[in-house]
Amino acid sequence: MNLQDEVNIRRTFAIISHPDAGKTTLTEKLLKLSNQIRTAGTVKGKKTGKFATSDWMEIEKQRGISVTSSVMNFPYEGYQINILDTPGHEDFSEDTYRTLTAVDCVVMIIDATKGIETQTIKLFKVCRMRGIPIFTFFNKLDREGREPFELLEEIEQVLDIGTYPMNWPAGMGKRFLGVFDREQEQFVQYNGEEKETPIPYKDLENAEHQDVVSDPAYQEAAEELELLEEAGDTFSLDAVLAGKQTPVFFGSALAPFGVETFFNTFISMAPAPHLRKSTEGPIPPDKTDFSGFIFKIQANMNPAHRDRIAFLRVCSGKFERGMSVRLARTNKAIKLAQSQQFVASSGNTVEEAYAGDIIGIYDPGIYQIGDTLVTGKDHFEYEELPQFPPELFKKVTAKNVMKTKQFRKGIQQLVQEGAIQLFYRDQTESFILGAVGELQYDVFKYRMKNEYHVDVMLDPIGERVPRWLKQDQVDKSLFDERNMLVRDREGNYLVLFQNDFALRWFQDKHPKIELIDLFEVN
Ligand code: GDP
Repeated sequence: MNLQDEVNIRRTFAIISHPDAGKTTLTEKLLKLSNQIRTAGTVKGKKTGKFATSDWMEIEKQRGISVTSSVMNFPYEGYQINILDTPGHEDFSEDTYRTLTAVDCVVMIIDATKGIETQTIKLFKVCRMRGIPIFTFFNKLDREGREPFELLEEIEQVLDIGTYPMNWPAGMGKRFLGVFDREQEQFVQYNGEEKETPIPYKDLENAEHQDVVSDPAYQEAAEELELLEEAGDTFSLDAVLAGKQTPVFFGSALAPFGVETFFNTFISMAPAPHLRKSTEGPIPPDKTDFSGFIFKIQANMNPAHRDRIAFLRVCSGKFERGMSVRLARTNKAIKLAQSQQFVASSGNTVEEAYAGDIIGIYDPGIYQIGDTLVTGKDHFEYEELPQFPPELFKKVTAKNVMKTKQFRKGIQQLVQEGAIQLFYRDQTESFILGAVGELQYDVFKYRMKNEYHVDVMLDPIGERVPRWLKQDQVDKSLFDERNMLVRDREGNYLVLFQNDFALRWFQDKHPKIELIDLFEVN
C-alpha cells in the first residue's frame, strides 16, 4: 500500500463518557467484533496484564480507577483502528484533555437513563473548541430511560451542537423492541440476545412481522420518526466533520444491541488523518517525511524500571523502527530504537506506523509535552498544545528542608513533563501547583516520594483566577496574598486573583494595567 492508502484506512478516536456510562463495556464489544478478544470482561480485568499499560497500580488500587490513558490499536474490516482511552473519573487530569489533541474524532457515550453529565460537558467543550467531530452513542436502552427527544434536546441545548439520529429506538427497558435504522432503511429487531434481526422497511408489511408492527412501542416510534423526517435537521457530513452536528445512535453496549451497526456507520463517516497545523503551514499526512508530536509523557510504565514513555501521534510519513529523527525544539538527532506500540492483543513492538497511529517511545528525559519529531530537511513544529485552565491551586513544600535539592529537581522534571502546572512566587520563594483535577496532586505526591524520595506537603490556596501581565507593567507593590504575583514556568508574570470580584476590583483601580487571560476559550 502506498502512503495515502495507509492514511486513508486509519481511524483514530477517543471514547469520552461520564464514569459508568458504559465506555469499558462498549470498548470490549468493539474488540470482540474485531476478534481481538474472545471473552468480555477482559478490559477491566487488568489483572490479566493484557491491558495493564499503566502502572499506577497503587494509586489505581487505592482509588479503583485507571489513572492514565491507554491506547488500543487493531485492524477491523480493512481499517486500522486506534482508540485512545481517556480516564472517566471525576478528578481526571490534563492528560485527559491532551489526549483529545491527538485524535481525529471522538465517540461520546451517554447513559440514556441519565443524560448529559458534568464530565461529558467538560470534555465536550474541548472538542467543540477544537472542532473535533463528535459521534454520540446513547447507551443502556435495555433500561427504562429518558425520552429520546428529550435527550436530543439536551445535547442541542447544553452542548450547543446540532443532532441527527442515525437510528431511532422503539421502546425502552422491558418494552425495548429495536431501532429504526434510517440509513439502511430497515427495522432492526432486538431479541433479548446478541442476535439482531434486520427487517427491510419494504418487508414490514409481511404477515410474519405483524407482531412487531402492531407493538405499541413500534407504532409510537414510527410516529416519532415521521415527525423527525419532517421537522428534524437534515444530515450533513460536512457539518459532522466540522464538529457542528453529531450523528446520534441508540443502543445497548451490554446486550449488546446496535453496537455493530453503530461501529460500521461510525467508521465509514469518521475522518481519516488530515492536515495538521504547524509553524510552516499545514502538513499533509501523506508527506513523505515522517513527523509527529508528543502529547503525553508517562513515567514508570514498567514498575521495575524508572523509564518514561512519551506518547507520540504520527502526523505524516512512515515511522520505522530504529529510524533517526530530529527533535525540532533543539534540532538534535535521536535514534528511535526502542519503540512500543500499544496493541490490544499483545504488547508487541511496532515496526512501522503511519499518520494517525500512536506510538510509545522510550524517553530518557529529553522530551517535553508538545515536542515535534521530524525527519527530512524541513524545519517546523506542530502547534503548541494548549494549556488548560487549572481549577485547583496548592502551595507545595518539602516536609524535610534538607531535601530541597531533590525537591526542586523533582518539581522541575514533573512540570517539564506536563504532569502539573507550576507557578513560582519569587518574593517568598514558594511553589504553587495548578491542576485540573485532584488526581494530579496524588500522582505528583506519589512520584515525588517514589522517584525523588521527597515527602511533600500540599496546602490549598483556594480557587484562583489567573491573569497574565505585560512584562513592562509588573509592579510588585500592588500584590499580596489575596492577589498573588507569580511567574509561570517560562518566567512570565501573572497574578492569581482570589476570585472574580478581586479581579474586577483590581481592574477598576488600575485600569491601565492590562490583564491577559491566556486560557480564554471561545
Ligand atoms: P465505564 O465506567 O464507562 O467504563 O462503564 P462500564 O462499561 O464499566 O459500565 C458501568 C456499568 O454499567 C456496568 O455495571 C455495566 O455492566 C453496565 N452497563 C454498561 N452498558 C450497559 C447497557 O447497555 N445496559 C445496562 N443495563 N447496563 C450497562
